[in-house]
Amino acid sequence: MYDSIVMFQHFSRMIRCAAMAVPSVRDPDGIAPLLAKSLTGERLSRDDGLRLLASNDIVALGAAAHTLKQRRSADRIFFNSNCHLNLTNICMARCGLCAFSCDAHDARAYCMDQKAAIEHVRAAGSGITEIHMVSGLHPEKPFSYYCDMVVCLHREFPHVHIKAFTAAEIHYFSQIAGISLNQVLGSLKDAGLGSLPGGGAEILNDRIRTVICPHKASSAEWLAVMRAAHELGLKSNATLLFGHIETAEDVIDHLLGLRSLQDETGGFQAFIPLPFHPENTMFADRICSRPGAVEILRMISVSRLMLDNFEHVKAYWIMTGLPTAQLALVFGADDIDGTVREEKITHAAGAETATGLDRDALAALIRRSGSSPVERDSLYREVRQY
Ligand code: SF4
Repeated sequence: MYDSIVMFQHFSRMIRCAAMAVPSVRDPDGIAPLLAKSLTGERLSRDDGLRLLASNDIVALGAAAHTLKQRRSADRIFFNSNCHLNLTNICMARCGLCAFSCDAHDARAYCMDQKAAIEHVRAAGSGITEIHMVSGLHPEKPFSYYCDMVVCLHREFPHVHIKAFTAAEIHYFSQIAGISLNQVLGSLKDAGLGSLPGGGAEILNDRIRTVICPHKASSAEWLAVMRAAHELGLKSNATLLFGHIETAEDVIDHLLGLRSLQDETGGFQAFIPLPFHPENTMFADRICSRPGAVEILRMISVSRLMLDNFEHVKAYWIMTGLPTAQLALVFGADDIDGTVREEKITHAAGAETATGLDRDALAALIRRSGSSPVERDSLYREVRQY
């Protein structure tokens, strides 16, 4: 931990110095003109993105991304008080990338009823402002199970925002109920759904999806869910899963697809790049390690530079680890996610992070990065400054 803090302080100093002098005179990868282009507000192209992603000059990348982050959020770093709720791990899709899901007859299988879900949320305490709920695609539960769950949680916790369902789940509900995306989303919104978390995107490339998650929504279907949600007034986030079998081209095309939809709808709040954890997945033998700190920080920085129409970039501490999440706050991220309470999905894939943190611990981590911790609600309104 001491090493991490020293490393953080060292990088943080470098980034802050470099941020005052971008473009730098030392430009081994020739990316200074691209960073200058981004800092003057010009949109980066696909080719620009590929060159940035190929660069090892992460200090220069981080400095430019940090400057862009400062323009949007100044010294503020956001977090929230949330509680994760996974109704079931029984899933018909059984994606190769997933260590969380199982079949109904597996010893690990569970499926919560309304009473269990209420108890889980109640145990998180009265201070939470958000329920983050994503689950397996249960082969037997009807759409009404999910809709009634939202009704029940909204009734029990009327002041808590319900951010729930990946686009893959919404697409699945549309299939099992035989109704349109608009009808699914409209019913859930009427039931009390506040926003969508943005998961299930993985890589928006069907050549990759047929290998890592062949039985869930395609790229076009994921984007269609998001477009429909935004048109109904439901905000969402957008994720990217990296560090598996994707190429640099796949990553940049994913970012361009999101940027294009954001131009259209303006409905995305935050972009969340997620480093793949291979342990206990079907890729455990093929992919022997997770993305390291340099790869994560480069992805955070390039995301901030490419996604010029996204307000927030999040370092999800559960998946990056705390030291790297803290470093990401000077590499373009302005959000570190929330208290979480009890994370199951990434921990099934071997995450060593805590399964939850309290607000003071998150605020202290942010403050030690030289930034101002701001507790937000699910729509990025300030709840409290620390
Ligand atoms: S990633 Fe989601 S859809 Fe895929 S198997 Fe896991 S729970 Fe099911």
